Amino acid sequence: MKRIIYADHAATTPLSEKAQTAMRDYLAANFYNPSAKYVNAQKTRRALEQARGIIAECMGADPEEIYFTSGGTEADNWALKGTAFRYPMQPKQIITTEIEHHAVLNSCAFLRRMGYDIKYLPVDQQGLVDPVRLEREITSETILVSVMTANNEIGTIQPIEKCAEIVRGYGVEFHTDAVQAVGHVPIEVAALGIDMLSASAHKFGGPKGAGFLYLKRGVPLEPLLSGGGQEYGRRAGTENAAGIIGMAAALQESCDRLCAETQHLLNLRHLLCNMLRDKGLDFRINGAENTLPGTLSLSFRNMDGEVLLHRLDLMGIQVATGSACDSKETRLSHVLKALHLPEVYAEGTIRISLGAENTEEDVLYIVAAIQKICCNKR
Ligand code: PLP
Repeated sequence: MKRIIYADHAATTPLSEKAQTAMRDYLAANFYNPSAKYVNAQKTRRALEQARGIIAECMGADPEEIYFTSGGTEADNWALKGTAFRYPMQPKQIITTEIEHHAVLNSCAFLRRMGYDIKYLPVDQQGLVDPVRLEREITSETILVSVMTANNEIGTIQPIEKCAEIVRGYGVEFHTDAVQAVGHVPIEVAALGIDMLSASAHKFGGPKGAGFLYLKRGVPLEPLLSGGGQEYGRRAGTENAAGIIGMAAALQESCDRLCAETQHLLNLRHLLCNMLRDKGLDFRINGAENTLPGTLSLSFRNMDGEVLLHRLDLMGIQVATGSACDSKETRLSHVLKALHLPEVYAEGTIRISLGAENTEEDVLYIVAAIQKICCNKR
């Protein structure tokens, strides 16, 4: 059978065994609506509240500060639109960055059409936001600053604590999209001083379609979904009990093995980069020193990222590119564009995102495959 190496963990992760076990009962026998009043349904309610407690503990939050959502996209939409909708018909401003995920960027584009002023902070060549520049952009009209914790294409981790401290000084709310970071780097919301944080279960071994928004106690936010009184009356809709329970099990497992996994991924990362260098390949590593350990954005000189991806796929290696590929003009993703990479490298970008189950053997196989493709091209 053809060997398959999955190296696209930033897109999604396999569902962990612990999450599967935790979910099983709530997918079948215990199918009850957690809002129902009979005894069996109350078991589901208790399991949901237990999941909230586990997630809160992993994040350094109180259980009442965790709101379940359908994933990262909903949490981002809620944080941005829920803040903006508190100020209808007012010329208010939101500050974000040029390299956010589209869940944030397209929420901002929507709000701009509604009349809000949106400011996009540039980043440097490593994808880092400058907190001094952020401070300069804050005005008396600013209502929210949203800066992602870690970037999904290049892995760069932003100086979130510093940004939050500055923003707090102006009495403005601070949101971070931590979808790529939660479960992969230590995060303590109270210590970071943030008001809102978005997370998504399928990025840390949980199921797709479950996520949460951390909302600091006392921070006002308009509901995004109108309906029943679930989630303290702030997020309507029957809870995805199995998904939420699986998410809590996966997050607990990720947090328990965070140190060991980080070391494992850093070892693989260094091995991969060193071996590619030893082979004499001409490439750049995108991103900053402070990065997600498993996420590697590599730009190969005079290569085409799409071609690389498809050839690797034929050899059983699953990675991503940094290109949008809908037309010649928009070949590069907004993130790669924001980095202002030299063109000879930018077009040849792929993202390899490693996970706990990847091995040194996988890395050797990936390096050999990349070398073969790059050398055959010459
Ligand atoms: N934010 C970031 C940084 C992401 O990487 C993703 C998914 O790739 C999302 C938000 C959206 O999360 P979800 O897939 O749970 O909607």
